Amino acid sequence: MPSLLSCFGGSTESSKPSPSVQTPLLPTQQQPQQHGHAGTRPVDKSVDASRCVFCAITPDRFNIVLEDDDYICFTDRSPAAQHHLLVVPRIHIANVKSLTAQHVGMVREMQALGAKALQVVSPDAKAERRFGFHIPPFTSVDHLHLHALELPFRSSLRSLKYRIAAPPSSGYHKGWSWFAEYTQACGILADGGRVSVGRC
Ligand SMILES: [Zn+2]
Ligand SMILES: [Zn+2]
Repeated sequence: MPSLLSCFGGSTESSKPSPSVQTPLLPTQQQPQQHGHAGTRPVDKSVDASRCVFCAITPDRFNIVLEDDDYICFTDRSPAAQHHLLVVPRIHIANVKSLTAQHVGMVREMQALGAKALQVVSPDAKAERRFGFHIPPFTSVDHLHLHALELPFRSSLRSLKYRIAAPPSSGYHKGWSWFAEYTQACGILADGGRVSVGRC
């Protein structure tokens, strides 16, 4: 049974070939473009980058789909859905609870890169796509990462990790949930709030 905490990392399913891995993942002509060694970017000096797996993303260890100057998008090693990508900022930001109103633009840029990358791995899809963040303590890697999913989920059990909780009333953006869908997160942050597991 997959742990709620295992939003990244190895699993018994990792030996299954992922369709996206077999697709030639070429960047589009415009930005974002592939860069060289992604591990050489500047990081928060207070963070030991050698101990943060997402501060050390390199093409030999990650299947990078798209990247630009600010973000990297790669396939999740334990996909919960038909297509499952992660988008991380190059700078170290701990998690969605670290975000404030000034990060709304960043969240939108992360989603845009994730959507573009899903289009790369699944150009003809009409399926529902879902974007969002896990909220501590329901995170595995403490480096902000946006999940970019193209449904269907691989199992109903795994879909629970990405359940969107509707707001209980008009004063809220989300209900009680360990997953903040990205428009919920943007709404909370734009209103000056902070994303949390409880309704907000
Ligand atoms: Zn996660
Ligand atoms: Zn990091």
